[in-house]
Amino acid sequence: ASSLQVQPLSSQNIGALFNSVEAFLFDCDGVIWKGDKLIEGVTETLEMLRSKGKKLVFVTNNSSKSRKQYAKKFRSLGVPVDEEEIFSSSFAAAMYLKVNKFPQDKKIYVIGQEGILEELELAGFKSLGGPEDGKKSVEPKSNCHFEHDKNVGAVVVGIDHYINYYKLQYATLCIRENPGCLFIATNRDATGPMSDSQEWPGAGCMVGAVCGSTQIEPIVVGKPSTFMMDFLLQKFQINTSKMCMVGDRLDTDILFGQNAGCKTLLVLSGITSLSALQDPSNNIKPDYYASKVADILKFLEE
Ligand code: PLP
Ligand code: CA
Repeated sequence: ASSLQVQPLSSQNIGALFNSVEAFLFDCDGVIWKGDKLIEGVTETLEMLRSKGKKLVFVTNNSSKSRKQYAKKFRSLGVPVDEEEIFSSSFAAAMYLKVNKFPQDKKIYVIGQEGILEELELAGFKSLGGPEDGKKSVEPKSNCHFEHDKNVGAVVVGIDHYINYYKLQYATLCIRENPGCLFIATNRDATGPMSDSQEWPGAGCMVGAVCGSTQIEPIVVGKPSTFMMDFLLQKFQINTSKMCMVGDRLDTDILFGQNAGCKTLLVLSGITSLSALQDPSNNIKPDYYASKVADILKFLEE
């Protein structure tokens, strides 16, 4: 496949895209914000899209926050967003368990942060682990026998800045020894937090550790898996051919959109550079690319 297939968004082709799309799905980090900073022109662009009757959905793989916490973040950045428009991988993990009728009397062990715990609780599930186990430690001494809760029926793994050997042992024992125990990954992003100077390990690192010890592959609920999309489609009832996924990452966002038959727009305001997009080794090609979300507004006005 050649790089020529990817069109830069322009004042010539924006009309066709705009008129054929009823809902815009936005990835968050690298598209709406970069860490804690709003990306230039986002507020005005989203406002315009709403005023033209477009539905907006926000899909983030970052499981550290719950939907409620994300709604608060949006508001603090001056972007009005309804909690119902947000689909985080933390929420997806809770919904996966709910949709699959995970028994309410069983427990869920969490390698992850507040967002997962909050979503599990809101969905009526009992969890353990999370930040609470961040300060625990364990050393495998010769006569050490580690006990774990036999009533844990699922392990959920997401980004965890306080992952340790205790948590790894706990999750491993649950998955290996509790019959039928599910292994759910919020996402497998190789890198996580965006900072201007450096990339840091993402949830793919924590998930990889548990894959390594259990030799079991997880059920992934975040992008690019179809679970989040199917769930979201049920709620919004829009044909995917009338959706456009806007993201900064090829192997999560663009693939997520393409797998479902959405139009896709890659923005270069995040993790992917133009040269990475055009690299011959890249075989994930979005329909369009633009420098940032605000280009949608700019080109429509031209
Ligand atoms: N995972 C972690 C831990 C992150 O910090 C981020 C971005 O900040 C992501 C995933 C990617 O999030 P998004 O899907 O909004 O780009
Ligand atoms: Ca992103």
